[in-house]
Amino acid sequence: MKKIGVLTSGGDAPGMNAAIRAVTRAALAKGMEVMGIYRGYNGLINGDIKPLNVRSVSDVMQHGGTMLYTARCQEFRFEEGLQKAKATCLEQGIEGIVVIGGDGSFRGAADLSARGIPCVGIPGTIDNDIAMTEYTIGYDTAMNTAMELVDKLRDTSQSHDRCSVVEVMGRNAGYIAVNTGIACGATCIIVPEMPWSIDAVCNKIKNTHTTGKHHFIVVVSEGVGNAVELAKTIEKETGVESRATILGHVQRGGSPTIRDRVAASQLGYYAVQLLYEGKGNRVVGIQKNAIVDYDIQEALSMKKPFEKELYKIADEISF
Ligand code: ADP
Repeated sequence: MKKIGVLTSGGDAPGMNAAIRAVTRAALAKGMEVMGIYRGYNGLINGDIKPLNVRSVSDVMQHGGTMLYTARCQEFRFEEGLQKAKATCLEQGIEGIVVIGGDGSFRGAADLSARGIPCVGIPGTIDNDIAMTEYTIGYDTAMNTAMELVDKLRDTSQSHDRCSVVEVMGRNAGYIAVNTGIACGATCIIVPEMPWSIDAVCNKIKNTHTTGKHHFIVVVSEGVGNAVELAKTIEKETGVESRATILGHVQRGGSPTIRDRVAASQLGYYAVQLLYEGKGNRVVGIQKNAIVDYDIQEALSMKKPFEKELYKIADEISF
């Protein structure tokens, strides 16, 4: 391939800029031209595309967000939108595309690959909810942000003898919740993957109260939600004053951690290598510290196991 494009799509994640930089530099080093496609698949449909040179991606790695912007694009889900995107690629001479995003973005990448524009996906999402990889870009930064914020909540909960019910992100996955929960010493962690009951939560708080602990952290995953209702019920059932905090989008921002920058650089480099070899309809990931790649359909059909052992440890050592 002589010319490739790169885009970010779906929810943003810290580290996406490091991936864009790696893709751009790796492609330029191989003698390919690189086009930056703006606002996800919208950029392909509207022709919102600019060349990236070696300096376009300087000084971006340390920043959260994505220099190419991101968006959700309804039109791209339909044949007409896909054909417009393909026509733009043919017009601009774009022979392959690196798509940085989540599962939804990979479905789009598969659709475009099937129409003759080879795409390679890079998992970029704070939720870590992509089965073919043990790690997604943005996950570490988001967890560190959540951990810092829960630590801050703990200070004030401790001063007031309160219970803090904290909702963390993760969509339908509890990875951020269980890791943040164990890292912050949460008394209870509630995730969609594991059965739970309000009675068990309240009983654990009441039992722990009898051992001399007067403040509590309950981490609840976005996929379970209802932090406000949970806090009300906990206060009513246990007598411990309770407050709900929904951390929200702050978890998606911030300077990426070293882990995210390194992973993004490796994945970006490897994605370009695949396109350089003429391979498309693939998604790259990390397994046991090695970079792997899968057919997109195969990747999308995989199921990711939940960290049940970690959940069990967190539960057993928090009382
Ligand atoms: P994420 O990539 O983070 O999972 P979304 O699910 O919102 O985020 O998907 C991002 C974009 O990918 C969508 O706005 C759409 O343009 C494209 N997309 C999602 N699902 C499909 C699909 N089934 N077919 C084609 N494109 C899709």
